[in-house]
Amino acid sequence: MTAPTGIIEDLHARFSEIVLRDVEYPSVIPTTIEQVSELIHWCRERVWKVLPVGRGHSFSEQHHVPTGVLTVVSTGRRGMSEPSSRDLAIDVEAGVPAKTVAEVVEGAGFILERWPREYPGTVGGLFCGTRGSELRALVLGVQMVDGTGRVLRFGGRIRKDVSGFDAAGTLIGSRGTIGWLDRVCLRLRPGVSAPAERVSLPGSTAPAPFAGLSKRVARAYDPYDVFVKHER
Ligand SMILES: Cc1cc2nc3c(=O)[nH]c(=O)nc-3n(C[C@H](O)[C@H](O)[C@H](O)COP(=O)(O)OP(=O)(O)OC[C@H]3O[C@@H](n4cnc5c(N)ncnc54)[C@H](O)[C@@H]3O)c2cc1C
Repeated sequence: MTAPTGIIEDLHARFSEIVLRDVEYPSVIPTTIEQVSELIHWCRERVWKVLPVGRGHSFSEQHHVPTGVLTVVSTGRRGMSEPSSRDLAIDVEAGVPAKTVAEVVEGAGFILERWPREYPGTVGGLFCGTRGSELRALVLGVQMVDGTGRVLRFGGRIRKDVSGFDAAGTLIGSRGTIGWLDRVCLRLRPGVSAPAERVSLPGSTAPAPFAGLSKRVARAYDPYDVFVKHER
């Protein structure tokens, strides 16, 4: 089934500069966080769903995007701060390739513990993917957009910014089901880089069942059920 033409025309009219052409499914590549927020509002108003995607490594070749789902690709969000020796932190947007982060950080003489530096996916996919929690200790803060379109910031460069509730931890490993990860602030270690741990995984990873507590957390961040929660 294809999406009603009126909605697709509306998408092109509203977001002409970021709509991807000649792709199988309706897809956009936002370059600002405001655009992400507008896209979520647009989906909410039309009872469409949002599927955040980085480079798509965790999706199988047979993965089918149903009608009424807008694929929001993160690779337009490619900003990165300089690694800072003052607060030992770096800000990275979700669409930056993991490899690029490794090159910049190592080039400046810092270390990101356990960073999979050869992996060709994005920072958003790395942290929101099924194994994102393995890198939790690196995250000082996150900037995200929730299912109501609000821009939220948790944590930050300074340790006392860290609040009691681990909101960043909730988003990490969430597989795009509760919000859009826009930017992370990462903890650096000074020093000469040690060889990174190499982890091999199958190309496609099976998600954990979407149930229990994760369902209740999702409801808090995404009360209108805008983000796709289907199994794949
Ligand atoms: C230490 C470590 C080592 C790893 N090594 C490997 C490896 O060797 N090989 C391998 O295949 N995988 C590996 N992974 C898994 C890795 O997390 C992902 O498979 C990969 O980074 C996906 O990148 P991608 O850009 O293709 O993301 P995608 O496949 O596009 O997305 C991954 C998931 O994150 C969600 N997502 C993506 N971007 C966003 C966003 N901006 N906001 C919210 N949700 C988002 C998607 O919906 C999807 O559920 C490793 C992970 C870790 C933590």
